[in-house]
Amino acid sequence: MNPVSEILRDGDVLARFARPVPGGGYRYEAPWPEVLKLLSEIGGRDLSTARLLEGHLNSLQLVALYGHAVQQARVLQAVQAGTLLGVWGADAADPLRFNEEAIQPRRLIGAKRYASGAGTVGLAIVPVDEGGALHLLLLDTKDANRVDLSSWDHRGMRATASGIYDFTGLEVEADEVLGQPDDYRREPFFVGGIWRCAAAQLGAIEAIVAGMTRDLFGSGRDAHPLQMARIGEAIREARTARLWVEDAARQVETCAPDGQKSDVDRIVALSAYARLATEAAAMRVIDLAERAIGLGSFAIGHPVEALTRDLAVYIRQANPDAVLLGHGRVLARDLLT
Ligand SMILES: Cc1cc2nc3c(=O)[nH]c(=O)nc-3n(C[C@H](O)[C@H](O)[C@H](O)COP(=O)(O)OP(=O)(O)OC[C@H]3O[C@@H](n4cnc5c(N)ncnc54)[C@H](O)[C@@H]3O)c2cc1C
Repeated sequence: MNPVSEILRDGDVLARFARPVPGGGYRYEAPWPEVLKLLSEIGGRDLSTARLLEGHLNSLQLVALYGHAVQQARVLQAVQAGTLLGVWGADAADPLRFNEEAIQPRRLIGAKRYASGAGTVGLAIVPVDEGGALHLLLLDTKDANRVDLSSWDHRGMRATASGIYDFTGLEVEADEVLGQPDDYRREPFFVGGIWRCAAAQLGAIEAIVAGMTRDLFGSGRDAHPLQMARIGEAIREARTARLWVEDAARQVETCAPDGQKSDVDRIVALSAYARLATEAAAMRVIDLAERAIGLGSFAIGHPVEALTRDLAVYIRQANPDAVLLGHGRVLARDLLT
């Protein structure tokens, strides 16, 4: 068993936000300040664990939103028994699709890559494109023979075990299809939910700033004005990221999904920009910590070493250029009215 998952299974974290309802299902009751605190606290200790929890919460929310009572009951029972959930969206070279030759029962061909927790996650939500529409599947992912972690040799976030899961030949039953085609893309839950990823990264940013500050004060190097300036700048970067993430979390989690489309779009854009602001703060803070501490910051066991290594990898999320341009256009509209 992956040691990361043991940390998550220790407490009641996996089932904490699934409130059972009559009929066997559950509601996703996750107050944003509590989730933000949890993800950032864990992110400040172990970013891989925070990433796994982030995927777990995303799944829990999607099943609450789009799953029927039987599907919710399946997930509720699983998380109460300590099962880790995941959302595996990124396609491998051989993209996941339905086998058109297998009509009854339906079967899959292809694989997902960067599948966090592959080998540990017991149930995953897996989007599959069919004719341009995304179907969400809720699939058992406990078959170790389908897991390939050999490609996950990245320098950071190793403990997430973000490998390949091959679904080829797997039968899909009717009860494994969640909601309607394209439900997955409904906002503010799709792109808007990126604030949780930023919250985990925020925890690492703040821990790096604390680690560098303790290091410099401990060695007396804070006495040099350039070192003190680095501490000040790092504090400002972390604070800026926190304000972005808190604002995004509050706006997304209090947004009425059936409200005016322009309002939902703006809130989603703010969440997407919180991701970019966090990415920028992360890169600046990593640079400041490495310069301030010097070579010692790369020593295995230094308080900032694993955090900077993991954070540099985790901030590499999909298509930042498109996020900057597309959501920038939405935010620009407000300035033109
Ligand atoms: C630790 C970790 C865990 C993860 N876990 C999961 C998981 O469990 N499930 C999951 O689905 N995914 C997961 N992912 C993958 C994630 O969802 C993204 O797929 C991945 O991070 C994309 O990173 P990339 O750098 O390859 O992005 P890219 O989108 O390839 O971006 C790289 C660069 O290319 C630019 N770019 C993008 N598209 C174009 C284009 N068409 N033309 C020109 N330039 C372009 C971007 O702006 C950027 O500058 C994980 C990622 C990490 C780091």
